[in-house]
Amino acid sequence: MPTTTELAANLVTKTPGKGFITYLYRDTEGTVRNQDTLSFSVTRLIAENIQPREGNYLVRNPAGLTRNSHGLYPATYFIDAPGIADNDITWSATSGPGLGSVQFPHGNKGKSVTAWGTVAGDVKITATIDGLVGKPPEFNVRVFDQVTVPVALFVVYNSNGTPAISPNSGLIDAMFYNANLILRQAGISLTFNLAVHTVTNSAWFYTGSYNAHTNDMAAMGGYARSLGMTDVLKVFIVGDITNRVANTAPAGVNMTDQCIVIKTAYVNGAVLAHEAGHSLGWEDIYDRYPMDKNYLIEGYVSADRMDPKDWGAGHYPEDRFQSALVRRLLMHGDEGVWGTATEEMGYIPHGQVYGFTRARDQPVQRKCNVGLDGMIQTRVPKHP
Ligand SMILES: [Zn+2]
Repeated sequence: MPTTTELAANLVTKTPGKGFITYLYRDTEGTVRNQDTLSFSVTRLIAENIQPREGNYLVRNPAGLTRNSHGLYPATYFIDAPGIADNDITWSATSGPGLGSVQFPHGNKGKSVTAWGTVAGDVKITATIDGLVGKPPEFNVRVFDQVTVPVALFVVYNSNGTPAISPNSGLIDAMFYNANLILRQAGISLTFNLAVHTVTNSAWFYTGSYNAHTNDMAAMGGYARSLGMTDVLKVFIVGDITNRVANTAPAGVNMTDQCIVIKTAYVNGAVLAHEAGHSLGWEDIYDRYPMDKNYLIEGYVSADRMDPKDWGAGHYPEDRFQSALVRRLLMHGDEGVWGTATEEMGYIPHGQVYGFTRARDQPVQRKCNVGLDGMIQTRVPKHP
C-alpha cells in the first residue's frame, strides 16, 4: 500500500459498465511514485415486482399473493442491473409477521426469482446485492388466504332472440379465468359454477350508463333478486352500454347496490376485475382528466405519490412517469385500454396512488383509493 499524502482522482464512468478512479500518490518525501487505478462496477438498478405475461395476457405488479402451499400462485420479482452477476443477488424474506412464510421454489439467487407464500401475513422481500452501496431493492408483500366469491351471470337477449354473447362462448370462461389472475393479488377468486342465466329484454340489451339513468341497472338487480340471487356479485352481459355522458364510452359499469353490466365487445378479465374492484370499495383513477384529455398527470413517480409500501426502496426507472404508473392500475378508468387487455394493466398496489379522479366538473388530482389497504375487509364483493 502506498503512503498517501495527496490524492488526485479522476472518475470515469460508463453507464452501465465499468468505472475507474485513476489516482496518483506521493511518498513521504513528496515524490510522485506511482499511478494506480481503482475499478468498480457502475450499473443501473431497477427493481420492480412485475410479473411476466401469463397466457399472453396480463402483466401485473403483485402487492399481494394468494397463499398456496403448493405454489400454484407464484409471483416473479426481478431486477434490471447490467453488470451485476446473478450470483451476487440473494433474495430473502426479511421482516414482517409472515416472516419465513415466503419460499423461493427455484432458488433465491439471481436477477429474477419466483416466490410464493405459505402463511397469510405481511412480509418484506429484500434482494441483497453483494458490494452494493445504498439501499437494496425491497418489496412488501401481503399473503392472503383465498376467498371464493359466487357470481350470478346473466346473458341478455334482445327481442329478436339475439344474445349479447353466446352463453356457451369460451370468452365467458376466459373472462373469469383472467379476472382471477388479476384478483388473486387480493386473494379473491370469482366463480360462476351456477349455470349461465339468460333473460330477454331489449331495453337492457342497450342499457344506459350509470351516470345517465340507473333504471335499467336497478331493474336488473331487482330481477336477479326475484330469482333468489341475493348477496352475490351480479353480472349482466349486454349488447351495448349507451353513451349518455360526454367523453365516456363505458366498457362496463357497476351500480354497487345493484349489479355489474359489461358490454359484448369488452367481455374480458380486465373489465370484470375492474368492475368487481368498485364493489371492493375502489374508485377510478385516470392519467388524464376524463373530461378534457389535454390535462395529463405531470412528472415522475416519487415517494409521496404512492404508499411507502409500494415505493419500497424506490428503485423505479428514473424516467418512469406517474401517468404510466396510473395506466398500469386495475382501477385505471379509461375504457380505451380495456379492449386490448394486452398492455401492462391490472396492478393492485398496497395503498393510494396519485392521479386524476373521476370528478367531472373540474380536473381534480389527489391520491386515489385503488389499493389493498382501501378495500372492504371481507374481500367479498357482492350486490344485495
Ligand atoms: Zn371504473
